[in-house]
Amino acid sequence: MNLLERFIKYAKYETTSDPLSEKSPSTETQMAFAAVLADDIEEAGLKNVKISSGGIVTAELPATEGCEDLPVIGFIAHMDTSPDMSGRNVNPIIIEIYDGNDIVFPKGVDILSPKDFPDLKNHLGKTLITADGSTLLGADDKAGIAEIIEAIIKVLENDIPHGKVMVAFTPDEEIGRGVENFDISSFGADFAYTVDGGAVNLIQYECFNAASLKVSVSGFNIHPGTAKDKMVNASLIAMEFDSMLPVQMRPQFTEGYEGFFHLSKMSGSEQQASLFYIIRDHSKQLFEEKKSLALKICDFLN
Ligand SMILES: [Zn+2]
Repeated sequence: MNLLERFIKYAKYETTSDPLSEKSPSTETQMAFAAVLADDIEEAGLKNVKISSGGIVTAELPATEGCEDLPVIGFIAHMDTSPDMSGRNVNPIIIEIYDGNDIVFPKGVDILSPKDFPDLKNHLGKTLITADGSTLLGADDKAGIAEIIEAIIKVLENDIPHGKVMVAFTPDEEIGRGVENFDISSFGADFAYTVDGGAVNLIQYECFNAASLKVSVSGFNIHPGTAKDKMVNASLIAMEFDSMLPVQMRPQFTEGYEGFFHLSKMSGSEQQASLFYIIRDHSKQLFEEKKSLALKICDFLN
């Protein structure tokens, strides 16, 4: 199996996480995939392979002779994919030599165009992998998992001397619970790298504060013909909530360290409405201010 084959194999497993679940991992499919990964890394030559009750797969590559005193390095990737789009029956499409044109998916209506994603032009002549338009691909972060395993296989095949290396594959990163049951001390790495997203050669060494926000509005529904002074339209109150958040704090208007409120999902009727947001800020203080602003708006509307 090479890197591409390994990635395609993993992309086909459904591992969508579920923000509404209280279990760990949030979905059974992740636990099933954890078992596949545990088998694969054992076969690759990793030792002490374990799956925790929360679905975290860990393993180690013992140091080679003479390298036992080097720092222990960890590599981490997440096995779940975003609940924002279906991850069932993923059908990866391989474009062997990318020619710089629009990519038309066989299913669905979206087109991947360098006009919208100028970054595509950096990959002329390279092999691209996309989904077929009906699902996500799950390269975030099955690519990270495949890369870590293949890198370790290369180190072993080529007898490259190394210190002890720890590996962890975690569930539920996409719903903000990736580190919930992660036992840092038993993992035992002095330094660890998350292999996830971003461009080739890019290293990020900072992280933002993150929260999710669910706003539930209960209204009062009554026939519109007799609604005067009685109807409380939950959908309109939800829209009012959103209108009270600072417009400039939306992802499309922010960059760099600027934080945001991102409305990721909404549903509503006269009776009931829900808004789902993610809140991000590098500054802990501005992050806390964003959370308390959301609560103040709720208080005001109540
Ligand atoms: Zn990711």
